[in-house]
Amino acid sequence: LGRRELRPTGTQVCMGPTTIGDGSVAVIAGPCAVETPEQVMATAAVVAEHGAVGLRGGVFKPRTSPHSFQGLQWNGLELLVEARARTGLPIVTEVVEPEHVKRLAEVVDGIQIGARNMQNFALLTAVAQSGLPVVLKRSFGCTVEETLAAGEYLLLEGNDQVVLCERGIRTFEPSARFTLDLTAVALWKQRTHLPVMVDPSHSGGQPKLVEPLSLAAIAAGADALLIDVHVQPEQALCDGNQALRPHQFAGLMGRLARAAAGL
Ligand code: PEP
Repeated sequence: LGRRELRPTGTQVCMGPTTIGDGSVAVIAGPCAVETPEQVMATAAVVAEHGAVGLRGGVFKPRTSPHSFQGLQWNGLELLVEARARTGLPIVTEVVEPEHVKRLAEVVDGIQIGARNMQNFALLTAVAQSGLPVVLKRSFGCTVEETLAAGEYLLLEGNDQVVLCERGIRTFEPSARFTLDLTAVALWKQRTHLPVMVDPSHSGGQPKLVEPLSLAAIAAGADALLIDVHVQPEQALCDGNQALRPHQFAGLMGRLARAAAGL
């Protein structure tokens, strides 16, 4: 259902006022996890000011260790909704349980399926049936084709509002948190009509890699970027090592604008 030949001009995915796949590069940015009212409101204001077109923020966090911060859950969702009201940015958050989909879908503009749940087929089906736009993140242990097959579970429910997201895979290379697979970006653009997003924050795992990986992703054909930003990364409860500070995010957005203008 996702084959390019079926829709040669490509699919546009609409999250509130934001369109992904219209030829521009959509930047969705925000904290990895919603932590406090101050943190999410300040971060949302920063990303809005510098040109992000969507606000990301995890409220249900699927952490590797059960001892790590698991997210503010429904209380965090209220904060995201408040941040949307203040900034006008559509909100995207991750779902981890099929039972949570209905309640989340009533308020969010887009739902993220995280890498760890890419092949949770009951979750995929429940999310697709909500009709909401979906960001489907590639599992770090799955192939390009397996990701497309997971996307088919969404399309099969009649929901074509699907964005495929490359966020790095496990390789033998230890220098970065994961290895960004730009081949996946190029192949998905060639083989499917779905827009493609890249998450340079989770793949590189360090602020210094975000700009080069973002520029490379755009050169490979990415339609959107998903970027971690935190007003005080040293105090972050989740993935602070990879978050951009406000001035770094401002610098990135300036660089992307210059690249788009061919400078
Ligand atoms: C995230 O984007 O918050 C996240 C947990 O990413 P991933 O599922 O790619 O690890």
